[in-house]
Amino acid sequence: MSGEILTDHDLSRANTLGLPCVAEAFAAPHRTPALQALLLQATQQDSPVTVLGGGSNLILPERLSGLVLQPALGDWWLEETPNQVLVHAGAGVNWHTLVMALAADGLWGIENLALIPGHCGAAPIQNIGAYGVELCDVLEAVHLIHMDDAREQVLTPEECAFGYRDSIFKHELAGRVVITRLVLRLSRTPHPRLEYGDLASRVGDAPTALQVAEAVCRVRREKLPDPALLGNAGSFFKNPLVSRETADRLLTAYPELPHFTQPDGRIKLAAGWLIERCGLKGWRQGHFGVHDRQALVLVHFGGGSAAELLDFAAAVAGQVAERFGVELEREPRLAG
Ligand SMILES: Cc1cc2nc3c(=O)[nH]c(=O)nc-3n(C[C@H](O)[C@H](O)[C@H](O)COP(=O)(O)OP(=O)(O)OC[C@H]3O[C@@H](n4cnc5c(N)ncnc54)[C@H](O)[C@@H]3O)c2cc1C
Repeated sequence: MSGEILTDHDLSRANTLGLPCVAEAFAAPHRTPALQALLLQATQQDSPVTVLGGGSNLILPERLSGLVLQPALGDWWLEETPNQVLVHAGAGVNWHTLVMALAADGLWGIENLALIPGHCGAAPIQNIGAYGVELCDVLEAVHLIHMDDAREQVLTPEECAFGYRDSIFKHELAGRVVITRLVLRLSRTPHPRLEYGDLASRVGDAPTALQVAEAVCRVRREKLPDPALLGNAGSFFKNPLVSRETADRLLTAYPELPHFTQPDGRIKLAAGWLIERCGLKGWRQGHFGVHDRQALVLVHFGGGSAAELLDFAAAVAGQVAERFGVELEREPRLAG
């Protein structure tokens, strides 16, 4: 399928939360010209466009009007120089598959980001991060197409304005561009980053990139529910960034509160800890619940809707705000 448009296309299995959703129109172009033609057609018809990757960070409504575009640009290749290796990866490449293939090839840089679900095209949207590494640490360029006139552009990392789970794609460029390709800068020189969690104890001295990636996968499988078995979107809330004064107030009352000082002086708190301390770990209401092993993850037991999920999330965030005076911000994006 390239430029083919399907109507009333079921997306229930195309989102990891397993929310019921039907797209009015759906296309998964394999080539950039087909993607551009679809965008121009949507502009002419004044039809809204929603971009879908692997659906692992999205809350879908029961019906999505307009066109849902899932870029299926699935090529990736290496550009190797004596000092560095540039990896070009199409938007439709599965992120985890890419990480494992590159780690197996002895390339360092994204091994700590193993087992993050989704497609490469979505990785810059929230600047995916895990175990002390963020996409922006290795990103060289983002290739994209503007939705309104299908023109191509390449952004530097600086132009992407990356932050914690944040980028220009959530602000000025939100809903205005389709990312078609990433360029990552990796290295064949080993530089394991094992300071987060118990990674160091899970690998031997001088581990390979593949051993680190495999250790990350093991830790994640122990802690996070598998979306294939239990609907979820990973962390449902961002870890809140608070002022030094707020952190000091909370630390006086709760000295054990996990906290991390950021380069800008703000303090990052562990949202999962705040939720757990409200007694909400394992709490269930209707079709949704707080995961019983990781309080930061909200789970869908089946049969629920986006509206119910948002109500449930608001109830969780409300209890955290009431007890700690800290606002939690949702991480998954609302579609439609
Ligand atoms: C079990 C689990 C664990 C997770 N762990 C982590 C983690 O450790 N760290 C982390 O950062 N995230 C994590 N996530 C969140 C998620 O995996 C990432 O945000 C991922 O990058 C989303 O990719 P996706 O292809 O599924 O995007 P989707 O959910 O399909 O889309 C997410 C957003 O990106 C937009 N988008 C998608 N593709 C494109 C494109 N080509 N061009 C423009 N916009 C696009 C969509 O419109 C939407 O707004 C986890 C999720 C799950 C379910």
